[in-house]
Amino acid sequence: MNEKKKYYVISFSGGKDSTALTLEWLKLHICNHIAYPLDEVLYCDTWKEFPSMVTHIAKIEKLVKSAGVKFTRVQSEKSFDYYLLEHRFDTRTKKHLYKDVERVGYGWAGSRSRWCTSKLKQDVINRHFKALEAEYDVVHLIGIAADEQYRLERKSNQQKDHIYPLVYWNWTEADCLAYCYKLGYDWDGLYKVFNRVSCWCCPLQSLDDLRNLRKYYPDLWEELRETDKKTWRVFKGYSTVEDLEKRFAFEDECIAAGKSIKNKAFYTELREVCPPPLPESGVIKSSYLKGG
Ligand code: SF4
Repeated sequence: MNEKKKYYVISFSGGKDSTALTLEWLKLHICNHIAYPLDEVLYCDTWKEFPSMVTHIAKIEKLVKSAGVKFTRVQSEKSFDYYLLEHRFDTRTKKHLYKDVERVGYGWAGSRSRWCTSKLKQDVINRHFKALEAEYDVVHLIGIAADEQYRLERKSNQQKDHIYPLVYWNWTEADCLAYCYKLGYDWDGLYKVFNRVSCWCCPLQSLDDLRNLRKYYPDLWEELRETDKKTWRVFKGYSTVEDLEKRFAFEDECIAAGKSIKNKAFYTELREVCPPPLPESGVIKSSYLKGG
């Protein structure tokens, strides 16, 4: 049986680690195609990138292509908003998604229902790799940093056709960011504002990052408020985006008045301004519950 040709693909998300990997590996590849093979850089668009991330990705795409390497963009056929707000039927069973209440769309992702990771990323990427694997022996170059041990330990990262150059080089997340900055890639300051850069509307991001989204990206925050009005699922924990808006606005008032937003008095007052909502089901907005 003929052996398939090896085919090297960098999985590029646009974030600091995969950017550092792409930049360094591309540099080495240009110097030595044999020792550092590279056939393709693959980027999957989740529909909800920050505008400055979109610009950054276009820059890297241009650079990769100028080195004669293929840059592929993939994206799900249906949009993030479609799955969030309109999707009705289980793709496999064809049955309606929900029996008990009049809901459409998956609603916001939660820690136990990360539909967006599977529908908008994994499924799309897997389809692309499956097509490549029909022809090639694909080697995946993955930008996991040397200090992300917990990610390396996941079963999905224990494949023999995966390689982790950043770990081999002992580049930590901080090293990756510093390297990108040194080469002039700064995402218009995204990493100075956020601890983690992912979809700007991600409900799984930290409260601090959401606070900063409201502060530094008011247009996106407004879009998030509008989108949240159309969904059945509570955005984060027991809080809708409107609850968070009230909380953050109250924090601003306290800070302007020179008061702490960390002490007991603050939390007592906060409960009056924005009573903690406790929907009966935990994640369904009360207006979507039967009789609500
Ligand atoms: S970053 Fe958040 S919203 Fe985006 S795909 Fe991942 S879990 Fe979903």
